[in-house]
Amino acid sequence: MVENVSTAYAIYDAVFNGRPLTRRVVTVTGDGVAEPANLLAPFGTTYADLIAACGGMTGRAAKVISGGPMMGFAVASTEVPNGKTTSGVLVLGPKAVSAYTSQACISCGRCVEACPMRLLPSELSQFIEADDIDGAVKVSMMDCIECGSCAYACPAHRPLVQHIRRGKAVVMARRAAEKAKAAAAGK
Ligand code: SF4
Ligand code: SF4
Repeated sequence: MVENVSTAYAIYDAVFNGRPLTRRVVTVTGDGVAEPANLLAPFGTTYADLIAACGGMTGRAAKVISGGPMMGFAVASTEVPNGKTTSGVLVLGPKAVSAYTSQACISCGRCVEACPMRLLPSELSQFIEADDIDGAVKVSMMDCIECGSCAYACPAHRPLVQHIRRGKAVVMARRAAEKAKAAAAGK
């Protein structure tokens, strides 16, 4: 198990001090924010308030990412609250955001070489795009750690990790429904 310093400290606080986690340090950065900073913010603070506390946007903002550049995902609105997993808010200007169109897989294998979990991201993506979630599960979709390395390496700009996240969300929703059904049946 690999944990960062703030998670280790939060575990210490919970176990030794009985203190629940109610706030965390959030890195607000990128060329679209006026005064990048690390902020200690209570959960529920909106991204808009975090950005305002850093002097607001510079006017060049083209995309707001929740999280870091590799594992983060774009958000459609800054009226989103931070939570336990919000490590950062990245505000990117137009120069840092490239517009591209996803293309067909050229079977180059770069995503396979990049995957630290030794998965086959191209194959996983194809199963999920075909809505064959069970097929994706059979080739270890749930072992994906969503690091984003495959999508970063793909010369065809295929949104591999986004497909995998969607597939995993379907499985998690199924599991929750089964659990709720079992609870209702008193099992
Ligand atoms: S996002 Fe998942 S499939 Fe892609 S490289 Fe990371 S672990 Fe492998
Ligand atoms: S890196 Fe992209 S193009 Fe290459 S095999 Fe993987 S999905 Fe296909």
